[in-house]
Amino acid sequence: MKEKRILLKLSGEALAGDKKTGFDESTVLEIAAQVKKIHDLGAQVGVVIGGGNFWRGRSSENMDRTKADQIGMLATVMNCIYVSEMFRSTGMKTAILTPFMCGSVTELFSKDLANRYFEDGTVVFFAGGTGHPYFSTDTGIVLRAIEMDADAIYLAKAIDGVYDSDPKTNPAAKKYDEISIDEVINKKLAVIDMTASVMCMEHKMPLVVFGLNEKESIVNTYNGNFNGTRVTV
Ligand code: UDP
Repeated sequence: MKEKRILLKLSGEALAGDKKTGFDESTVLEIAAQVKKIHDLGAQVGVVIGGGNFWRGRSSENMDRTKADQIGMLATVMNCIYVSEMFRSTGMKTAILTPFMCGSVTELFSKDLANRYFEDGTVVFFAGGTGHPYFSTDTGIVLRAIEMDADAIYLAKAIDGVYDSDPKTNPAAKKYDEISIDEVINKKLAVIDMTASVMCMEHKMPLVVFGLNEKESIVNTYNGNFNGTRVTV
């Protein structure tokens, strides 16, 4: 079955390509082209982007965590503005919603507004995470996916699925084709953070995990030519 409403998670680092920081235009345009294809096939697409190409709250040891996390949330807003503009340059309609006021830069999130945008064929960026410190954009995307009744969360990662151990350090690491969210939680597998995993379990939100670097992986996943890991609920 093709999912109708999808929330796509991109890490901040994914936007930076090989540069590791800031933006890599060709990488983002490649993502835009894929999102346009699935949108044209009938998907309603929401996008959540991390902030790691600019800032991570928990890495800023000499600073009040709440303030550090506020910088992180604003980094996710900057990322969404950039990616939204790249998406527009390929002909897509976009909107950026945040859980806090950003003046005329974004619009304040509400479920009704997001639904109106989805129904009108607009790609909706959920920027600013949950709006609260001590959370992550992993939790942000799960929260929005549940609220917006998404069919699935697409986790486009640097790694091509969920492994039983880290393939960078263990050459014998085994990739799962499918795994339950209970097992992800019990084995503490690093798919999404624990708060987000527990929310997926409680609210039965499935995840599909695949490698962003694999050619056409977003389109292939949407069309069922799936090479990653399905996390079942
Ligand atoms: N952040 C936050 N609340 C949220 C989402 C994000 O405080 O709901 C902040 C936090 O500082 C985080 C940064 O924004 O480090 C970037 O978000 P991301 O999810 O990429 O963080 P990561 O898990 O990579 O630290």
